[in-house]
Amino acid sequence: MRPRYLFLLSLLVLVTSFNLPCCSVAAAETATWQAGTARVNVTPEKYIWMAGYGGRNRPADGKLTDLWAKALVLVDADGDRAVLVTLDLIGLSREFSQSVCSRLKERHGLERQQIAFCCSHTHTGPALVRNLSPLHYLIVDKEQQDLIQEYTTTLEDRVVEVVGQALSKTAPVRLSWGSGTATFAVNRRNNPSNQVPQLRAEGKLKGPQDHDVPVLAVRDAAGELRAVVFGYACHATVLSFYQWSGDYPGFAQIEFEKSHPGCLAMFWAGCGADQNPLPRRTVELAMEYGTRLAKAADEVLAKEMQVVEADLKTHFREIDLPLAELPSREQIEQDAKSENKYTAARAKMLLARIDGGQPLSQTYPYPVETWQLGDKVQFVTLGGEVVVDFALRLKSELRGTGTWVAGFSNDVMAYIASRRVLKEGGYEGGGAMVYYGLPTVWAPESEDMIIDEVHRQLSP
Ligand SMILES: [Zn+2]
Repeated sequence: MRPRYLFLLSLLVLVTSFNLPCCSVAAAETATWQAGTARVNVTPEKYIWMAGYGGRNRPADGKLTDLWAKALVLVDADGDRAVLVTLDLIGLSREFSQSVCSRLKERHGLERQQIAFCCSHTHTGPALVRNLSPLHYLIVDKEQQDLIQEYTTTLEDRVVEVVGQALSKTAPVRLSWGSGTATFAVNRRNNPSNQVPQLRAEGKLKGPQDHDVPVLAVRDAAGELRAVVFGYACHATVLSFYQWSGDYPGFAQIEFEKSHPGCLAMFWAGCGADQNPLPRRTVELAMEYGTRLAKAADEVLAKEMQVVEADLKTHFREIDLPLAELPSREQIEQDAKSENKYTAARAKMLLARIDGGQPLSQTYPYPVETWQLGDKVQFVTLGGEVVVDFALRLKSELRGTGTWVAGFSNDVMAYIASRRVLKEGGYEGGGAMVYYGLPTVWAPESEDMIIDEVHRQLSP
């Protein structure tokens, strides 16, 4: 501990001892972080179009569980702040994050690198504007487009609100971390879903996977659990029906909060772009996986966890991530006549942009964000649907289970395939680009560029 921290720590002990006469001095002595939490219900009030599957032909028609935006504010011993916002949503656009961040800067003086938005990627939540446009927005009628716009605007206000609430009630806490395991994620590129039960029973499931369940525990000065943050690398695609639901991550948070009253449970999706929860498609399975994940987090809490020192470092940068060779205008015009409605929708969107004076760009401003919590935990939040290779590589090159890699954060603009997956092709390697509206696939060097930026930010 640096002398400056010792000084601040002794000040804090004084302050907390006076403020909290009920708790022991021993508990107060270690309460060098401050934290605040808040939640807001973001379930759409109207039955609007749902996100996630191309096959949908009508808006939502019911609700299984509510959807939430949750905020955790952390303040370290020096007063440096970070705000984590988790959302039961499929993804977000760059414009959405930018707009919320500029409002948070204006109101609360927060900088971009102090804010992270992590989505659960539930496929039974609402569609948002400027996210997966050819899949959800461009193919629906004007009435639905207006409803999607209205919801997105309301959501933005609620996210700004929830962060404000969390900021307004910070109190001394202790942070600790650990890592558990849950095994329901299966590499969906390497295992035919109908064969998964048998392959699993025989121990023959193939392909890379990441079964870690990283856990951050936030306890108040009296030792009560106030918040828990956990992640898992798997698509939230158990359910595909027409009722709002948080899918397995929603149930994991509900289950955890049920067994820990007064605790806010927050979920972030890891690099699970190529991972599915299998078998799937029943409410019972969504609940079962949710319960397994909540139990995995609980098991981590039951064991001795490692203390996270009250020192926070935050970084954020958009790198110019290169795309492969761009299509010609002739190719796009050809696509605009395609019988595939998504291909045609993307082509028309690109043509409208070009004609509006915005030529196609060879690169995309890809967000890489890292937070260092103490000297053990590295929380990396990456944009897009990131395949598992990124998490495995970063963990092996950095701190193992102390390196947490979230995808689906800040801007979900496309699948983010590794060099290997780009080479193999298939849906995650290229086919999915059409639904996001990007003109082509990523260039092969994109993996190294993302990894290099993470290393750059985390190097001392
Ligand atoms: Zn996905």
